[in-house]
Amino acid sequence: MAQHDALDDRPLVRNEPCRLCGNTPAHLLAETDYWDIRSTRIVRCDGCGLMQLDPMLTAEDTARGALAYHVEESLRVSRHEQERNLVRNYRRGVHFAAGLQSRGISPQHMLEFGPGSGYFAEGMRRVFPQLQVVVMDVVPEVLVANKRDHGFAGIRSMPETHQAELDGRFDLIVARDILEHVIDIGAVLRNAHRYLRPGGHLHFITPNGHEDVWKHRLRWRLGGERSELLINHVNYFDGAGLRKHLEGLGFDAVQYYTYDMKPRRRGRGWSKARKQWAPVSAKHRSAEFTEERLHEVQDFRFNKDEVLPAWYRKGSLPLLRMLCAYQHGHLLRIDPARNIGHEIHGLFRKRD
Ligand SMILES: [Zn+2]
Repeated sequence: MAQHDALDDRPLVRNEPCRLCGNTPAHLLAETDYWDIRSTRIVRCDGCGLMQLDPMLTAEDTARGALAYHVEESLRVSRHEQERNLVRNYRRGVHFAAGLQSRGISPQHMLEFGPGSGYFAEGMRRVFPQLQVVVMDVVPEVLVANKRDHGFAGIRSMPETHQAELDGRFDLIVARDILEHVIDIGAVLRNAHRYLRPGGHLHFITPNGHEDVWKHRLRWRLGGERSELLINHVNYFDGAGLRKHLEGLGFDAVQYYTYDMKPRRRGRGWSKARKQWAPVSAKHRSAEFTEERLHEVQDFRFNKDEVLPAWYRKGSLPLLRMLCAYQHGHLLRIDPARNIGHEIHGLFRKRD
């Protein structure tokens, strides 16, 4: 893997074993600061290739930093842009469900980890009106909004915590943009496997770790300075390592590819130009966004009938499927083992 050697990472003994494979030999990729909450390092496991914070954040660190990020983002992103994201997620849900249907997969009971607005699952229900959706999140407001806007049942829990009563209850688990945030990825994937029935499917998207971590490595190796980590990406996945781990757990890949080459064309993941370097750590004060400016965030409530064009919900489904495929289909698909591209798309089936 040439891109590893290009930055001459140094071996180190990590503080905590890898949460995917349990090994301790590793290489140091970067030193970084998560807000003013924790100083840590990003290391790559020599065993499985997973890149991870070491020491890992605690659940309290994550909760505080994630709230600060949410407040900062809410103040930065306009209401209009937030609305557009809801519509996009709805269309992505339609497109994903249509893809399942074309493979003869018709889920009845779905669990989504970290559902956000819930619009992805709601888009899926346009294709599968009978789909029963349960959402899991630690933030009560997320569960309240999913219930209010879509009628989804909610479970307040971290995905790491095993809930025995969920074992074998679902034929689809969705984890979009979640796996990179969880502090115990091994436990989350084990739980997803347990909660599925044999033959059930796990769907996820997560950033290509090599591209995502590149900016931190540049700042550390070439700049000699600690980088700034504001969004809690605590796992950076190696395409081959992630697949191997899922297969070892008892999954088989149905679809596994990387898509979206735009950031790569702009130099992310390979260029050493200074504009690619992560900002130097400023140890941003998390209190500024958690205590001091939290009150400025308005509780945006979006009315589904106003956000979504009427024909999305009531018009021709074949036409909507065509639009969603046009907007969100991925024509260029690359094997994640090559570790290029922006986002990894996975659909894995639990073995019978
Ligand atoms: Zn490992």
